[in-house]
Amino acid sequence: MIKRLALSAALFSTPLSADDHAGPQNDDALAAQVSEERLRADMDTIVGFGTRHTLSTQTDPKRGIGAAVNWALDEFRRIGTRCNDCFEVRSVERVIEADGRRIPQPTLIRNAVAIQWGSERPKEVIIVQGHYDSRVTDPLNGTDDAPGANDDGSGSVMILEASRILSQQQYPSTIIYALLTGEEQGLYGAQILADWVEEQGMTVKAVLNNDMIGSACGSDGFCDAEHVRVFSEGPRADSTDRLRARQRRFGGENDMPGRNLARWLGDVAAANPAGMQVRQIWRTDRMGRGGDQIPFLDKGYPALRIAVSVEDYEHQHQDLRTENGITYGDTVDELDFDYLARASQLNVRALHLLALAPMPPAVTADAAVRVDTQLTWKAVPGATHYMIKARRTDEPYWRPVMPHGTRGEDIQDAVYGAYTDEFDMSVPLRGDDWLFGVSACNGTYCSPVSSAVPGGAFAPVAKPEGDSE
Ligand SMILES: [Zn+2]
Repeated sequence: MIKRLALSAALFSTPLSADDHAGPQNDDALAAQVSEERLRADMDTIVGFGTRHTLSTQTDPKRGIGAAVNWALDEFRRIGTRCNDCFEVRSVERVIEADGRRIPQPTLIRNAVAIQWGSERPKEVIIVQGHYDSRVTDPLNGTDDAPGANDDGSGSVMILEASRILSQQQYPSTIIYALLTGEEQGLYGAQILADWVEEQGMTVKAVLNNDMIGSACGSDGFCDAEHVRVFSEGPRADSTDRLRARQRRFGGENDMPGRNLARWLGDVAAANPAGMQVRQIWRTDRMGRGGDQIPFLDKGYPALRIAVSVEDYEHQHQDLRTENGITYGDTVDELDFDYLARASQLNVRALHLLALAPMPPAVTADAAVRVDTQLTWKAVPGATHYMIKARRTDEPYWRPVMPHGTRGEDIQDAVYGAYTDEFDMSVPLRGDDWLFGVSACNGTYCSPVSSAVPGGAFAPVAKPEGDSE
């Protein structure tokens, strides 16, 4: 069924009341539950394993990665008992063979994972992850103390705390909480989880990879406690020759799903100006470096990295030592727990809002040799309405309301109820000069915008059968 509708009609105006959606709490109330005290306690516990290096002992009950992962699994189970066993806790693991680089012998890589299944669309998942493993100067040193407090104990304790808070709510979509290992050896834990998610046939709405979120100052004294950096990819990692050719004809260099997820997260932060803000970094990761979002991006899943505003190179990947009066090492005393708590609050807000929002729709635009732009998309499960967004091609962010059309129509309320399975909308703006996207909303909970460009959909790029691209 395809319906056409004039833009002035079908306005959706009434947001659902708080009673109409799953979970009694709003994102302010949930963010307020983040406890700096619990973040500190968890940090002391995990640093207490001495080292969490991936090549450290897996059999010692008190020291090394084996004991650390066992504790994280037990902690997820304890949290799960307080939500009527709402968690499926599992070790998503695989033996990685020697790779001639940072895995010298076959090594079991275990990720500690808790799954909070969604009540309506359990295959639709949001993943919040960080890496639990740590290292010192030599990436193969699995014996010396490697506290890994900021990198990435900070992401790890945030995930445990977020799981405590959000497990008291119910969501239509699934949240996966993941403490990954093997990151410092080559992103192995993330690869294992990404493979598992793919095998399960899950639809990935978002991956929030948090790697170093616990301090705000660099070794040169430069500090910024008001922001986290959010790294998002430009061209898709899973692009194909065919997609590149279509993007050359229709645009879309700045409109891939990870980028729109980053824009959405920036909006979530900006809606709460007293909280942690987002500094957009529009590249996949830091210069010449990587993170656990990459194996997910490789598969075409929307993923981003959240990281400290300013890195302190003397307190990451360093042997614990003092040299020329400078103390090196990724230790707890270098952390800023207030900063970590605010970064955690931003994650809690984002996870709550993403878990309530529908999937962004896949949108196409037809604007060749015409004065308007025809946008089409299929309805997505759970949407009560949709919002069309626009921006000029040289503008970074979506406009909060649609601009006026070139033919005088007032289209400031470009909001459409879920009255059909297939939407086919004429927007009175020239597609040569504008970019468009659509956000799907469940009441007041709206998805990231999905851009109406080739490759803009929140899904892996379709590869034709037998295509080796
Ligand atoms: Zn890291």
